[in-house]
Amino acid sequence: MPERIEWLEDGTAGGSPYSPRFGDRYRSEGGGLDQAKDVFLKGCGLPGAWAGQLQWCVLETGFGLGLNFLVTWAAWKADPQRPRLLHFVSLEAFPASADDVYRSALSHPELIPFAQALKDQLWGLLPGFHRLVFEGGQVLLTLCIGDAKAMLRELAFEADSVYLDGFNPRLNPGIWDVFTFKAVARCCRRGTRLATWTVARSVRDALTQCGFQVEKVPGTPPKRDNLQGEYQPAWTLKKSRVLPARRTPAHCIVLGAGLAGAAVAASLARRGWRVTVLDAAAAPAAGASGLPAGLLAPHVSPDDSVLSRLSRSGIRATLQQAGALLTQGHPGSDWQASGVLERCLDHARKLPPAWQPGALLADAASDWTVPATPAQLGPCSLPTDSPALWHVRGGWIKPSSLVRAWLATPGVTWRGQAKASTLVRQTSGWQVLDATGQELGTAELLVLATGHASGALADSTGMATPLALQAIRGQASWGLHAKGTAGAMPPFPVNGHGSLIPRVPLENGMAWVAGSTFERDNTDTGLRPEDTAHNLGKLQTLLPAQALAIQADSGQIQGWAGIRCATPSRLPALGPVQGQPDLWVSTGMGARGLSFAALCAELLAARLHGEPLPVEQRLADALLSQYATGLASAANE
Ligand SMILES: Cc1cc2nc3c(=O)[nH]c(=O)nc-3n(C[C@H](O)[C@H](O)[C@H](O)COP(=O)(O)OP(=O)(O)OC[C@H]3O[C@@H](n4cnc5c(N)ncnc54)[C@H](O)[C@@H]3O)c2cc1C
Repeated sequence: MPERIEWLEDGTAGGSPYSPRFGDRYRSEGGGLDQAKDVFLKGCGLPGAWAGQLQWCVLETGFGLGLNFLVTWAAWKADPQRPRLLHFVSLEAFPASADDVYRSALSHPELIPFAQALKDQLWGLLPGFHRLVFEGGQVLLTLCIGDAKAMLRELAFEADSVYLDGFNPRLNPGIWDVFTFKAVARCCRRGTRLATWTVARSVRDALTQCGFQVEKVPGTPPKRDNLQGEYQPAWTLKKSRVLPARRTPAHCIVLGAGLAGAAVAASLARRGWRVTVLDAAAAPAAGASGLPAGLLAPHVSPDDSVLSRLSRSGIRATLQQAGALLTQGHPGSDWQASGVLERCLDHARKLPPAWQPGALLADAASDWTVPATPAQLGPCSLPTDSPALWHVRGGWIKPSSLVRAWLATPGVTWRGQAKASTLVRQTSGWQVLDATGQELGTAELLVLATGHASGALADSTGMATPLALQAIRGQASWGLHAKGTAGAMPPFPVNGHGSLIPRVPLENGMAWVAGSTFERDNTDTGLRPEDTAHNLGKLQTLLPAQALAIQADSGQIQGWAGIRCATPSRLPALGPVQGQPDLWVSTGMGARGLSFAALCAELLAARLHGEPLPVEQRLADALLSQYATGLASAANE
């Protein structure tokens, strides 16, 4: 359940929010707006301090009802000198419902449009990090749901401002103690400013002990004093905790114009990089990303594995991008957030126990995946007691549409028929040569996103440990709907043993897409009739009625084949190649390019710029350590 809040009558539009758990009000008697502006913004020297900066990172210890975030975002928007990127990282152990967050802003009409946009993204807040995106990717809110100390351990960035907020230290001492402040200090650089509304002696002492110089300043009525401070420890900071310097945007070459490369190009261009995307083919999305349509559905596992968590973060990132860049709901749609039904044909229990109806996390989990209902099984002509899951946020996307949209980001240039063969180290950056030794380009930063070809290109640098990438051939089957097939289709995709996307609008009509084969270490993209038979056989098990309709009534069944690129762990491979800070790889998306490409691109950009990561450090590191120890050490240097 979301956190229970009582709304006390105080004459304001929404009322005054009160926490029965902590026996305290969420905000000051004055309504909270003055507190947010005077105590926190002004207390940290904002907006002046961020003027002209490329990025600014705020760390807040208690999100509550999001008022400080809304006020900071509004101040950013109103400021002509605002930084290009505003990161707001906020911790919250007991997240309130989206409705309560919105209601809390009702007493401040100027914040209502911001609150509405926030409300729309406040769903599925399971424990862990959630990256919410506003202002076309220029305002990034990272909500860290869980115990403050545990969440702080997962953060790896340097905050420019710290807002210490939360219930009264007497009522919730845990987030005001020396251990929390020590973890906050780990996220500070010399000079990071801090502000809070409490001047409790215990708080001042603990902050001082952790290296903050603090002083009382005149308070926001009815409070007499507020507290401001700066991180200026008397000791030398350990080298191990110094993060990489924030990179200044320059020129980057991305090799590969599939989902992985195009996503990287867009993420870097949004941060001010000039990006040239080179591809061997004559058109973008000529590799695996040329699939007519692909599924977007989270991975679920009883232990909520790293893959499951990353897939959810990735899907949130893809949904944000698809929602902003693609069209849905008309005849030429690029995608549809229809939901996806997953059949559990082996009858295995898939949901974590805490997600089961009535359990602790059931409410947040119900925004992601729930047991399927008879109403969802019925349109698939399946028995209403068939074990199945319903992925609420699932859907389908035409990958090539997303690739083209990313390549259209201002600052990105695409060039085809540019097959890279050798990478040559330069004094500063990299030179890319084709097979004849002709230069294709040079740049300060080079990103390999060439699928399974990334291995050979990385080898051309003379790296000691080859990238452990595996090519996996796949053939999908598709056809234009005939009368009988159109009527037999469910209104959403189904997976679980192969998959069926029932309605994909193509140029020459409405199509179904079913897939796919998996054949390791095969890079042949020729079509094979036996693969069509294999796909239809799988469909026979997954959706017997639909398979029958296709066999009886479909016109010619077509095929499409491509090569996936996978790592041994089934997680993508993302990081600098063997300790080279200006040669990165983003590949190994396996069968989940639509779930991972956008997330990996944001991770790459965040690592390069010392920004807060969109996922817990532990999860991000799982992608670094795919194959070469050099990857992890370079990113953490
Ligand atoms: C049959 C099939 C079904 C699939 N179904 C789904 C699905 O339902 N959902 C999902 O999320 N994913 C699915 N996938 C996986 C998904 O397609 C991939 O994960 C994703 O497209 C990988 O994107 P990429 O950019 O890493 O690779 P690619 O799209 O393969 O891009 C690599 C690019 O690099 C270029 N290149 C290669 N070598 C060079 C070079 N030397 N120089 C310059 N350029 C070069 C290629 O031309 C290509 O454009 C499926 C894949 C297949 C094959």
